[in-house]
Amino acid sequence: MESLKYNCNNNKNRLLIAEKEKYALLTDILNMPSNAMVLIAGPCSVENYSGFEEIAIFLKENGVKCIRGGAYKPRTSPYDFQGLHEDGLKILNEVAKKHNLSTITEVLDTRHVELVSNHADILQVGARNMQNYELLKEIGMSGHPVMLKRGFCATIEEFMHAAEYIALNGNNKIILCERGIRTFETKTRNTLDISCIPIIKLETSLSIVVDLSHSLGRKDIICPIAKAAIAAGADGIMIEVHPDPENALSDCKQQMSMIEFHELINSLKCDKNINLLHSAK
Ligand code: PEP
Ligand code: MN
Repeated sequence: MESLKYNCNNNKNRLLIAEKEKYALLTDILNMPSNAMVLIAGPCSVENYSGFEEIAIFLKENGVKCIRGGAYKPRTSPYDFQGLHEDGLKILNEVAKKHNLSTITEVLDTRHVELVSNHADILQVGARNMQNYELLKEIGMSGHPVMLKRGFCATIEEFMHAAEYIALNGNNKIILCERGIRTFETKTRNTLDISCIPIIKLETSLSIVVDLSHSLGRKDIICPIAKAAIAAGADGIMIEVHPDPENALSDCKQQMSMIEFHELINSLKCDKNINLLHSAK
């Protein structure tokens, strides 16, 4: 019986822990050398074809392998821009194919898993959906590569349990993403839990990406925090970049301009402890 598979597992037998060697690394999914530091970047939302292509060309020149852009946006207010939906997926897919980039975009709903999988290389489960178990099961059954973001009030244990739902349904292409948790601190949008990175690396074999933009909600401290995340063992970093951040339709305060992103990459390249060479063009 279908429901039995959820009953017979106890914490000690979790697939993520018991079958570590089974899981694909982010670099495998993106066809990159296993020691490459993965850069995921792109706008918060896909807004139109020309702006998205402008960013894609720029990111490609700056060593980015995987472009992001939301087509289904989980906005706090229902009156805010909700994304271009299927039209956004088409723009993402067409532009990325034209410029030989891999793609990641969020899926919000079980009904869209197939559609989004047809347009993107990696599905993103956002923080608000980390405990949407029906969505996790559907993505598990799809077998499509997925990046699961930590919920903003989720413990690391809950985060791992959520990933387990995907694994238990047959998907071994799971990437985790630390994107900050809610604390009393107000200087940043969320508090990046840096200790999550080595704990995930110790307890599982999954790759972990740090989303600097949603963790911090500001761009002036991205560089030192990117270095900290990489030093703690992150396999990749994700950053929002927009051709005209001030006029972006979502997350306008935290998206980097192209100049700012270029400077960030140069500064990371100058750090002798960070090797971005593999991800460069
Ligand atoms: C996003 O990456 O576009 C996003 C909405 O992030 P989060 O789910 O982490 O808030
Ligand atoms: Mn965003």
